[in-house]
Amino acid sequence: MIELQGLHKSYFTGNNELHVLKGLDLKIEHGELVSIMGSSGSGKSTLLNILGILDSYDKGSYKLNNTLISNLSEKKAAHYRNNMLGFVFQSFNLITFKNAMENVALPLYYQGISRKKRNKIALEYLDRMGLKEWAEHMPNELSGGQKQRVAIARAMISKPKVILADEPTGALDSATSIEVMDLFREINKTGITMIIVTHEKDISEKTDRIIYLKDGIIESEHIRKEMSYV
Ligand code: ADP
Ligand code: MG
Repeated sequence: MIELQGLHKSYFTGNNELHVLKGLDLKIEHGELVSIMGSSGSGKSTLLNILGILDSYDKGSYKLNNTLISNLSEKKAAHYRNNMLGFVFQSFNLITFKNAMENVALPLYYQGISRKKRNKIALEYLDRMGLKEWAEHMPNELSGGQKQRVAIARAMISKPKVILADEPTGALDSATSIEVMDLFREINKTGITMIIVTHEKDISEKTDRIIYLKDGIIESEHIRKEMSYV
């Protein structure tokens, strides 16, 4: 599903080069529930942004579903993002002047689906997240956990193959964090590959495989539960 070989990424600011990813090798199979752990500044978001085709890399290769992701036109990149990938962020990234249902429906707007139809589908996804009663509420009327569930519904609505989550519980209290992780586990059971970046041990322990990023490479990994292909 995802295959990285010898991946390098540097940032250039002025005359300074910051070499963040230093030849990273990684394989993630379809249907895995994986976390990527590492201290702050270790390059977790950089890696996730490359996986999400939100940023480019300098050297090596990234294959998504056997397609080499490199020098894509913005149109092609958007095609993969819209059809393959769902995103969840620490800060939820909801649109403040749209209600929960409209936020969830947004990806379908970009697919040209009528307002009536996309709102109906958005309601179904909100219902799955236990938020049907909150459909008409604005983001500032929702708790952190509710906002993240809205964001997860929005990520799910375009039926992605992979969900990429960058510190999805970073702004939540521990009880709510566990609820969100349980939700991710449920979503993973429907066959969606989940890649969760976190620096919290408790969160990574809710995933089946923990990948440790350090000094720009994968230092080690820990398989908690073998994938079962039944
Ligand atoms: P993490 O998510 O693990 O905290 P990041 O991937 O965000 O780490 O950042 C890795 C390093 O790259 C940090 O030192 C950060 O300051 C730097 N960095 C991240 N994004 C940029 C950027 N757009 N320009 C320059 N430096 C960046
Ligand atoms: Mg980060």
